[in-house]
Amino acid sequence: QLSKRLALVADYLPKGAHFADIGSDHAYLPCFVCMKDPEARAVAGEVNQGPYDSAKSEVEKHKLEDRIDVRLGDGLAVVAPGEIKQVVIAGMGGPLIRDILEGGKEKLSDVNRIVVQPNIDSRSLRRWFFQHDYKLVDETIVEESGHIYEILVAEKGDPSSPYQQQMIEREMWLGPYLLEKRPEPFIKKCKEEWNKKQYIIKQMKQATSPDEEKLKQQQKELKWLEEVLQ
Ligand code: SAM
Repeated sequence: QLSKRLALVADYLPKGAHFADIGSDHAYLPCFVCMKDPEARAVAGEVNQGPYDSAKSEVEKHKLEDRIDVRLGDGLAVVAPGEIKQVVIAGMGGPLIRDILEGGKEKLSDVNRIVVQPNIDSRSLRRWFFQHDYKLVDETIVEESGHIYEILVAEKGDPSSPYQQQMIEREMWLGPYLLEKRPEPFIKKCKEEWNKKQYIIKQMKQATSPDEEKLKQQQKELKWLEEVLQ
């Protein structure tokens, strides 16, 4: 049984996908997609030997070796330029996912969709998409086992179109589609963030010489959260 989180990631792949799952671990995602869709093919990339071995045995267990190629290597180094049409990177921090995309951007020439699931700091990915002409086309959020996970989907296109000019900083942080759709886990996440911010601001104010710039930024973000929670 695939986790709810990875099932949602899988939903964003088209029929007949030819994708790379970078940091595939047990290769659960590519196995699930390829079992459901006989046209799908995948490269499961892993930088660590242990997860690479697990991915290999999972693929063999399902007899999917002809459609899922498990490769050992760092990030997108495991694929050739033009080889794949979609990229999935899930279950890592936003900055690590961003570094993997940045480090392998020449491999993305034929990639028409990128699906990422950052565990933290989705803002770093919205920024990367914006700076590299990827249009954010959807976002979703899911709660599972006490964690809240965001999923971001991007395609080549006008990167500014999902954002409102005056609100861009706020939307980059919280997500333009999530702000629009307001799903329940998003509201819950905003409440948690609000509590954290309150605490941070209190701590900052108690410091002997608070960093005024940082304090202002925190207060601005607290206000944005309050607007969501109103
Ligand atoms: N993608 C799966 C998921 O979402 O459930 C597994 C997530 S697991 C927490 C992260 C995996 O990414 C680990 O197996 C780790 O070895 C791998 N990883 C970390 N950095 C990587 C990199 N630069 N290139 C490829 N794999 C990487």
